[in-house]
Amino acid sequence: NTPLHELDPDVAAAIDAELHRQQSTLEMIASENFAPVAVMEAQGTVLTNKYAEGYPGRRYYGGCEHVDVIEQIAIDRVKELFGAEHANVQPHSGAQANAAAMFALLKPGDTIMGLNLAHGGHLTHGMKINFSGKLYDVVAYHVGDDGRVDMAEVERLAKESRPKLIVAGWSAYPRQLDFAEFRRIADEVGAYLMVDMAHFAGLVAAGLHPNPVPHAHVVTTTTHKTLGGPRGGVILSTAELAKKINSAVFPGQQGGPLEHVVAAKAVAFKVAASEEFKERQRRTLEGSRILAERLTRDDARAVGVDVLSGGTDVHLVLVDLRASELDGQQAEDRLHEVGITVNRNAVPNDPRPPMVTSGLRIGTPALATRGFGAEDFAEVADVIAEALKPSYDAGALRARVTALAEKHPLYPGLK
Ligand code: PLP
Repeated sequence: NTPLHELDPDVAAAIDAELHRQQSTLEMIASENFAPVAVMEAQGTVLTNKYAEGYPGRRYYGGCEHVDVIEQIAIDRVKELFGAEHANVQPHSGAQANAAAMFALLKPGDTIMGLNLAHGGHLTHGMKINFSGKLYDVVAYHVGDDGRVDMAEVERLAKESRPKLIVAGWSAYPRQLDFAEFRRIADEVGAYLMVDMAHFAGLVAAGLHPNPVPHAHVVTTTTHKTLGGPRGGVILSTAELAKKINSAVFPGQQGGPLEHVVAAKAVAFKVAASEEFKERQRRTLEGSRILAERLTRDDARAVGVDVLSGGTDVHLVLVDLRASELDGQQAEDRLHEVGITVNRNAVPNDPRPPMVTSGLRIGTPALATRGFGAEDFAEVADVIAEALKPSYDAGALRARVTALAEKHPLYPGLK
């Protein structure tokens, strides 16, 4: 029972340093969030010791009576949250949820359609060296000049290539997708529609984004982005596909589920059904709108900063730096220097290589969780706009970041 700090001071010190980093800087990576203490508490429990291959009531190991209760709570809560007929809460991550969903519906060599990676899609939607690109024939669709998914192209490509599965979803896209239109096209060509709502699931749970569940055969998500839970994945589906989905997760893709993470997911789903969560998601959206508005003002445009698609409907803004002296890497470094963490991101038809890029992806979920309101988002947007100018005062901007971090303490009880 030796405490971590005594048993392993090296790892403990790095964890402490990471806590300090999260507390003292502003986290604006669009796919990140801060899990509630209760979620982390559930995850750090004896459940990590338990094997539970199978599903509640049908396990391949003894002693599963308590993890059965926990997993069933998680299943019931997430079904209720999104109005789904079936839920599998075992995928270890979003990528594994996607792998299992595809494994359930496809055979190697089948054709899938997904949004091109450089246009905002995810690796698992058909990137060449990902399992999805290696196992399946991939036909990618794109965004048009207006920065929005070109539905005419989706329809044309679907009719030409007759895919078995169409994936609608994204990792870097500032607008909402038309799920009904995707489903119409999928039905027309006899394809399954899979929506990957990993990024916007929290907005859906709060009723601030259209729900893909009524439109899709399968919906996958992560639990750690806007949803604000532990790192992990979930698959939702129609009742008809339940058996296929379950056997694709276990034994198809995974062995024993991570029941400590399943417990943390259950807690996160409870939080996501609360009024407080809705209010937080409202601030998340308000923050990204403020960011988009302030990064398209004349002074930003004058230094070559712009926002893809002209704004945002979701929790992130894609900054277009094609006309700026700064590339994506330099801009990411600038913001890091003043205490703001973001990630560089390719823009469609990016003239720069993928390790450099000409864009930034900036998200508001983590700061909304910290308590940021409209005034704070306006201040952080102004700090970003200043930091991207050729002459910038790093010290002064860093002080403004520190003031915001101190105004909204993160995990005040943790040290
Ligand atoms: N799907 C989408 C749309 C994502 O953006 C991501 C992660 O960035 C994933 C799936 C994969 O999630 P994970 O990193 O948990 O495997």
